[in-house]
Amino acid sequence: MRDLDKPFLSHPFDDDKLKEECGVFGVIGVTDAANFVALGLHALQHRGQEAGGIVTHDPEQGFNSARRFGYVRDNFTSADVMATLPGPIGIGHVRYSTAGSKGNTAIRDVQPFFGEFAMGGAAIAHNGNIVNAEELRRELIGRGSIVQSSSDSECIIHLMARSYQKTIPERMKDALRRVEGAFSVVAMTRTKLIGVRDPLGVRPLVLGKVGDGWALSSETCALDIIGAEFVREIEPGEMVVITAAGVESFHPFEQRPSRPCIFEHVYFSRPDSILGGRSVYETREAIGRELAKEAPVEADLVCPVPDSGTPAAIGFSLQSGIPYAMGIIRNQYMGRTFIEPTEQIRNMGVRLKLNVNRALIRGKRVILVDDSVVRGTTSRKIKEMILDAGAAEVHFRIASPPTAWPCFYGVDTPQREKLLAATMSEEEMCHHLGVDSLKFISLDGLYRAVGEAEGRNPKCPRYCDACFSGDYPVKPTDVVNAGRLTLKENA
Ligand code: SF4
Repeated sequence: MRDLDKPFLSHPFDDDKLKEECGVFGVIGVTDAANFVALGLHALQHRGQEAGGIVTHDPEQGFNSARRFGYVRDNFTSADVMATLPGPIGIGHVRYSTAGSKGNTAIRDVQPFFGEFAMGGAAIAHNGNIVNAEELRRELIGRGSIVQSSSDSECIIHLMARSYQKTIPERMKDALRRVEGAFSVVAMTRTKLIGVRDPLGVRPLVLGKVGDGWALSSETCALDIIGAEFVREIEPGEMVVITAAGVESFHPFEQRPSRPCIFEHVYFSRPDSILGGRSVYETREAIGRELAKEAPVEADLVCPVPDSGTPAAIGFSLQSGIPYAMGIIRNQYMGRTFIEPTEQIRNMGVRLKLNVNRALIRGKRVILVDDSVVRGTTSRKIKEMILDAGAAEVHFRIASPPTAWPCFYGVDTPQREKLLAATMSEEEMCHHLGVDSLKFISLDGLYRAVGEAEGRNPKCPRYCDACFSGDYPVKPTDVVNAGRLTLKENA
C-alpha cells in the first residue's frame, strides 16, 4: 500500500529505519468478530502505527466500518466504537503512512476499502505495493472509474468492478492477475473470508483456527493474541476462500519460484512470530552468530541497539564469548505526539528514545549490534552518545547487508541517493559514522542464517533481497518508467 501522489516521502522523525507499511487481519465464524480483529491489529501494530480500520458484516445490519487515525488501542477499545461493528466476520488493516503525519494523511486512504458489486459488497485490506499502480490508475480513470483515495490498493476494487465474473472471488482473481508487485490481501464478503498472496509470496500471510472459526493474519503473533492455533502459511500465489463449510484453496496465478522478503526475518516481523517455518527470534540470533564468525573484533561488551538488534546481539555474544549487556536503554513510553510540538524537542532526536547506561559503558570497548543502517543519521547519534558516556572504542556490527537499493514492495524507503550504502563503501561509511570499525553481515551469511546452508544461489535466489542486491524480482514499473530509478545491468 502506498500513496500514489506522495510516493517516497519519509517520516520527519525516526526516519532512519525502513518501515513496513501495513498489517492485515481477518476472522470468520466467531461471535463479535470486531473484537478479535482489534486484538489482531493490536498485535500487528509494529507494521503500521498511523491509522487503522475495521469492516464487519452482520446478517441483520449489513456491512459496517470504522477507520481512524492513531493506535488500535486508542480507537478500537471503546465500547461505543465496537458496538458499531457487529457480526461474525470482519477484516482490519493497520497502516504506516508514507506521508509522515496525521495532517497529511486523508481518512479516505485508510483501509479496508469497500466496494458494492451486483452480487453484494466486498471489503479488502492490502499489505504490499502494486508496482504498476500508476499505469493501472491512468487506465481506470480513462475508462470512467471514480477514484476515491490516493492509495494504490484501491485499484484492486476498481479492477474487480470491471470484471465480468459472477462471484467476488472470481472477480478478485481477475483483478489480481492485472496487478504486479507484492500483495497479501485479506478480503471479505457477506459470507466469505478471502486471503490471497502474490505469486512470489513477498509479504507474509498465515492461516489460523480459532474455535469453530478461522483467522488470516500478516503474522502468527496476532493469532496467539486471540488464542488461535497456527495452521499454515498461505502459499505464494494461493487464494483461500473460507466459509462456514471450511477452507477452499485455489492457485489462480502462473506458478513462479517464490521470493519472500528476507528483511521480514531481519527486522519487520515480530521476534515471537513464526515465518517460513522458522522462529523469527532464532533466525535473528543465528544472524548474530554468523556476524560474529564473519566479523570478529576484540571488545569488552556486546550491546544491542534496542529493540530490534537484541536477538542478533545475543547471538553475537554467544558465538564470540564476549559478554552481552544492555548498554542502551529504550524509553518504552515515548509516544509520537510528545515530540511533535516543537523543533527544539524534535532536535533532541534519538536521545528521547534511547539512553546510554553510563555506568556500564565507561572505559569499555563496545560492540553495538543493530539490524540495519539506512541513512546513518541514527547510527551517528548513537555513536556520539556511547562516546559521551566514556566508551573506549565503538564497533558497529550490522545484522543485514548494506541497504543500497529502495524497496518497492510495501516498505517505506528513502530515495536511493539518501541510502548511505548507495553512495559509500563500507570503509567510507565507517569513516562517516566515526566508529572504530563497521561490518555488515554478508548476503551469503544472511542466507545461511535463514537456513540456506550454501548461501545465496545467484541463479535462483530463494528470497527477495533487492534492497541489498538491486536484483528486483518484479520490475518496479512505475518508478522505472518515471525515470526515478535506474536498474542494475542484468537485473
Ligand atoms: S526489497 Fe528488501 S525490504 Fe523490500 S521486499 Fe525485498 S527484501 Fe524485503
